[in-house]
Amino acid sequence: MKNLQIALTLKQLYKMKANGYKYTNIKLPDSNKSLLNLAGSLESLFAQAQDCHLCELSKSRTKVLFGDGNSSADIIFVGNAPNASDDATGKLFSGRVGEMLDNMITKVLNIPRNSVYLTNIVKCYPAQNRAILPIEADTCISYLHMQIENIKPKIVVALGEEAYKYLTNNDIEIMKIHGTVINHGGYIVVPTFDISFLLKNPSYKKYVLEDLMKIKSLLK
Ligand code: SF4
Repeated sequence: MKNLQIALTLKQLYKMKANGYKYTNIKLPDSNKSLLNLAGSLESLFAQAQDCHLCELSKSRTKVLFGDGNSSADIIFVGNAPNASDDATGKLFSGRVGEMLDNMITKVLNIPRNSVYLTNIVKCYPAQNRAILPIEADTCISYLHMQIENIKPKIVVALGEEAYKYLTNNDIEIMKIHGTVINHGGYIVVPTFDISFLLKNPSYKKYVLEDLMKIKSLLK
């Protein structure tokens, strides 16, 4: 959150400088308060994100991929970042990743694809599908918190170690934590494996199946 406050303060100062100011007595932000004055509803958050340039990822994206799905879903899936295919098509979790996620939702959890909500830690594509940087995650995470606050899901499924880390501020190997049911504020977080990782390492699918069965029992 602190990085976000610094980014917003810098943005404000650059704007003033561009307008001819050489001096300002504006107060620096209270580090305990969020400066990102995010609008309340999902629709207004979506609109605000479309024009967001708060981090470097605004340079590599062609689209801001905010989130997709049911705005009163019981379950939200959170990945790391949109991939190249998502950025090109404008569809989150597209291509083979999306096919696997669809199977997880409809064939294992046995619920319709349009009953869940999908999003990522950051809303913009990192060039060459590179790993997201902590400063990018910290800057963007307020959008995710507000999405969760609006949707009020029972369960948030963190897809992979990085998504879990940035969502909960808990850095732990996914092999040690996957499938654990964690109370996190007003909702439950269940970490499991990243879908791109599963496509490359299909032997891990058995763990994801176990995690999904646990999630299925929580949804009852
Ligand atoms: S990744 Fe998030 S914080 Fe960065 S530009 Fe996109 S919407 Fe803004």
